[in-house]
Amino acid sequence: SAVPDWESLRNQFPMIGDLIYLDNAATSFSPESVLVAMDQFERSYRANVGRGVHRLTRIASQKYWHAHEKAASLINGAEGTTVFVKNTTEAVTMIARGLEWQPGDVIVTTILEHHSNLLPWRALEKSGVTLRIVGLRPDLTLDMDAFAAAMDDSVRLVAVTQASNVTGTIVPVAEIAGFCRRHGALLSVDAAQSVPHMPVNVRALGADFLSFSGHKMCGPTGTGVLWMKKPILEPLFLGGGMVEHVTDDGFTPAEGFHRYEAGTPNIAGGIGLGEAAAFLKEIGMEQIEARERELGSRLIEKLSAISGVQVYAPADPNQRIGVVSFTIDGIPPHEAAAYLDDEGGIMVRSGMHCAEPLMRQLGCPDGTIRASLAFYNTASEIDTLAATVREMIS
Ligand code: PMP
Repeated sequence: SAVPDWESLRNQFPMIGDLIYLDNAATSFSPESVLVAMDQFERSYRANVGRGVHRLTRIASQKYWHAHEKAASLINGAEGTTVFVKNTTEAVTMIARGLEWQPGDVIVTTILEHHSNLLPWRALEKSGVTLRIVGLRPDLTLDMDAFAAAMDDSVRLVAVTQASNVTGTIVPVAEIAGFCRRHGALLSVDAAQSVPHMPVNVRALGADFLSFSGHKMCGPTGTGVLWMKKPILEPLFLGGGMVEHVTDDGFTPAEGFHRYEAGTPNIAGGIGLGEAAAFLKEIGMEQIEARERELGSRLIEKLSAISGVQVYAPADPNQRIGVVSFTIDGIPPHEAAAYLDDEGGIMVRSGMHCAEPLMRQLGCPDGTIRASLAFYNTASEIDTLAATVREMIS
């Protein structure tokens, strides 16, 4: 298919202007279509959803429910249950708290995980659950031999990120799904960094749960998705909107995503999230992946060529997304990031990236500087970053 007009796509993001924004792994910008969709809800048909029969509630409900279908469609998840949540953190917490655990159950996870895909599992240790953490190979890809060795029939669930928010490492989730099938384990995928940047197909992946955040995929903050192959979780939140019937001494939960969306949801946000999913799908995730892969390789090449700069990324472009962590000899990450903004107008992230165990593993006790790309970034922004890093060192 034809290559998208990246410049005209960039122009659809009112925030961008002349900013050099390379912190997309933390949060991304929203295009006009997403902003307009949210604004229309607030200005012309604001009402509660799934309650009553009047005109406005019917329009709002239809739009909000349709947004679920749009989000599901981006991940080929129409056959599962697509629940709108606050963010990835909430989704992972709902999974960890919504399953019944027995002492002796094992969870296998990896050293790559964001704290949001570690702490909800850690908290289960007080119920007698054990965590096994799979490490990295020296090339910063996941050690799949160690992964295979960590698997046995005591493993109840495997929790992995599909793409690291620090090293950009892509995890071979479909292969891990094979391990899970062999040992009867559930597979929970943290897709916060993959859904915005590469094609994700829940059926091809073999995931039981997949979580991601709206704000990292051109959607609004305070939105996210928990997709489930089957609605096997106990709902964490109870109350209005999630029940079919309430009797004098009990209740029957509703079917579908409603069961997991108690209370009045973030309606404008959900509608914006649906619009963001449609926007990405329209561009094409293969196109986005190819574009960011090209920009990411340029970024790694330019930074690696500067003496005194260490880059932490897998060498194979097919095993990484456009998230590039680096350190500069003798300059603490926060200082370097402040310099980049002050002198170059460049916004990058610095610090621990909510992945402290990984930072220790990488030998970066003060963290790293991280430049993370979206399709709307440009080669010239990357060149400005590299030039400003050179200037800082000299
Ligand atoms: N997992 C990964 C891999 C992430 O990058 C992030 C966000 N940095 C999260 C989980 C948590 O996302 P949120 O803050 O939106 O809950």
